[in-house]
Amino acid sequence: MNAVAHPTHLAQAARAGAMLTVDLDAVAANYRLLVARAAGAVVAGVMKADAYGLGMDRVAPALVRAGCRVFFTAHLDEGVRLRGIVPADCTIHVLHGPPPGTAADFVAHRLIPVLNDPGQMREWSALCTRLGRRLAAAVQVDSGMSRMGLSPADLASLGDPRDWLAPFEPVLLMSHLACADVPDHPINARQRERFDAIRATFPAIRASLANSSAVFLGADFRYDLVRPGAALYGINPQPGQSNPLRQAVSLDARIVQVRTIAAGDAVGYGARYVADGPRRIATIGVGYADGWLRALSGRGYAYVDGVRVPIAGTVSMDSITLDVTGIPDARLAPGMTVELLGPNQHVDAVAAGAGTIGYEVLTRLGGRFERIHVGEG
Ligand SMILES: *Cc1c(COP(=O)(O)O)cnc(C)c1O
Repeated sequence: MNAVAHPTHLAQAARAGAMLTVDLDAVAANYRLLVARAAGAVVAGVMKADAYGLGMDRVAPALVRAGCRVFFTAHLDEGVRLRGIVPADCTIHVLHGPPPGTAADFVAHRLIPVLNDPGQMREWSALCTRLGRRLAAAVQVDSGMSRMGLSPADLASLGDPRDWLAPFEPVLLMSHLACADVPDHPINARQRERFDAIRATFPAIRASLANSSAVFLGADFRYDLVRPGAALYGINPQPGQSNPLRQAVSLDARIVQVRTIAAGDAVGYGARYVADGPRRIATIGVGYADGWLRALSGRGYAYVDGVRVPIAGTVSMDSITLDVTGIPDARLAPGMTVELLGPNQHVDAVAAGAGTIGYEVLTRLGGRFERIHVGEG
């Protein structure tokens, strides 16, 4: 990303260990790119986990300005929060559906539940009957991931969908792919065939199968509505290929202290790094409690004006030690910042170093950062 003016924010953030900058223009540009790739399908925005850690209160309005009118959250509470953020004409789906006893909350907050099992179905139908209204709901079917949605056995036991859908207003039939990020995985076609077979038994309602990666799998995976999350925030939906999306976050950590160590000196918990000669070590105020995964001990990097500096030793709870040998002292004064995410280091690269995925890195970014949102969206 480019539009991040670090020095202007230094004073504002002087108390926090690091600054997390969210580029709302990048999120909006990513949304527009997905709209172009979706070629006519509605593009919803997935807001679960506080917009993948970026801050739903700022990200959702930026998406609305970019034209987004359909949203998904995971939990009821997230949906309630989002209802207070986006305009009344936006629809909000809650992927986990109503927890037992909460169906009325969906009506009160104008949320659309995704009904995932016969129990949720019965609860929603009962509420509709009680209120004498056919309330909107989405129905999720399991096409092969065995995580959420009506199973083949559920569908068989429920009988003809025209009967059990009758009490409410089904607005979306959806399912979710297990391997959309692996384009030639055979399960993709199997899940699509299974989804089509189920659709054929349903009355004509809008259909949705695609997450971010599946938007790029081809027209026959996109149906009427696509549900990207990760791609909005810059994660590469096609690992191994060039990323058409803009990274939406940068993370700049403040230097707390710098020291010189001699050959034989150890650094960090477990003394797992031992200097083989004189070294300069900078300690920054970000650690695993901030989501900088301990798995990056001895293998991750930071950047100082584009120069890569390795993590030396173990990632601590609140700090990380970097080998900054060769960086001019004038650039290492306490309070100056080093880049953990930004133009030189993509979230997917950090994830690869930690043996995880960009989703986990983003959603773990902690609550102790100074959060700055730039751009209008
Ligand atoms: C999280 C989620 C999405 C969004 O997935 P991305 O890979 O982040 O685009 C879409 N649909 C469902 C059901 C999800 O759980």
